[in-house]
Amino acid sequence: MAPKSVCIVGSGNWGSAIAKIIGYNVQRQPDAFEKKVKMYMYEEIVDGRKLTEIVNTDHENVKYLPGIKLPENVVAIPDVIEACTGADMLVFVLPHQFVKKVCEQMKGHIKPGAVAISMIKGFAITGGGIQLISHIIAQELGTECAVLMGANLAKEVAEEEFCETTIGSKTDSTGQLFKDLVETPYFRVAVVKDADTVEMCGALKNVVAIGAGIVDGIKQGDNTKAAVIRLGLMEMIKFGEEFFPGSRRNTFFESCGIADLVATCHGGRNRMLGAAVVESDKTIQELEKEILKGQSFQGPLVAREVCSMLEEKGLCDKFPMFVAVNKICQRVMDPKLFISCLRNHPAHL
Ligand code: NAD
Ligand code: 13P
Repeated sequence: MAPKSVCIVGSGNWGSAIAKIIGYNVQRQPDAFEKKVKMYMYEEIVDGRKLTEIVNTDHENVKYLPGIKLPENVVAIPDVIEACTGADMLVFVLPHQFVKKVCEQMKGHIKPGAVAISMIKGFAITGGGIQLISHIIAQELGTECAVLMGANLAKEVAEEEFCETTIGSKTDSTGQLFKDLVETPYFRVAVVKDADTVEMCGALKNVVAIGAGIVDGIKQGDNTKAAVIRLGLMEMIKFGEEFFPGSRRNTFFESCGIADLVATCHGGRNRMLGAAVVESDKTIQELEKEILKGQSFQGPLVAREVCSMLEEKGLCDKFPMFVAVNKICQRVMDPKLFISCLRNHPAHL
């Protein structure tokens, strides 16, 4: 079979870290993959130069993953149609708010038989309620779409510190193909079939991580944070029961579940946001600009998406932590009341 060509759709903090892995991995497997990896990059000017030009000349994404060299066979392209045309494998790694628009541009330009994977941790709200991003990609582009989620803080992965990850794929062949594309000795991949639960975990842990940050902001310690992680996991499992029937309990014990909760509740950007919301009066948008300098917090959007669904279904009382995080982000709840939300959680009854 001819080597497969790969396009990465996205080039932020995680997008660039995974581009480093993919760029090296395709070189190691020339029979399986084409050497050139095209990476769609939303164009912007950094220090008077186009970011695509910086990446293609200096081989470093100085804005979103500074200090990490990218392999030279990763080529940044500002036009998503040019980037995706002819690709056999599409790797989606954008902040979730941009997915629909980018898919609309790509529609009609996808190679027949191409397969996709989403590494995006969020949901979309459509007329029918909450929707998984991988389902949107599959519907919009007519491709199969697997998912990859795990305890994968981008900087640590880019620095080649050991971690695990989970690919969720309904078909074995697509799961294996993407495992071959991304696995390295420091990035260990488990493939499971329960893809919807894998993706749901990736989105919801962002909300729990804000809760962990709130605990830091109100100066509570590790025991309290452990309670947030445990109760957050309980809400994630309950969310699976309500909205993704057939969710397998074992999936929550893969890297996409408990491990990503632990990692993000200690080291993630959403945790930083939770603490900052307590410590300052600034809006989420102001904090995002100030703390992340162009990167994106996914947690507040996910909290809003989840809570609009819970309200519609009359289920808010079963998910008090998700609801409290959303209210604290919206500045309609005093963060100090977060502890009473933990104390009175239905998991204790
Ligand atoms: P990021 O937070 O660095 O976001 C910035 C990216 O958004 C940049 O590439 C920017 O060019 C792009 N962007 C800005 N405006 C845009 C627009 N209008 N249209 C298209 N793109 C635009 O991105 P990231 O960290 O790569 O995160 C992508 C996804 O990966 C998210 O769902 C995130 O939850 C997930 N994720 C992140 C990490 C991490 O450690 N950063 C780890 C695992 C998963
Ligand atoms: P943050 O977006 O909170 O940094 O989380 C990154 C992540 O998903 C690590 O697995």
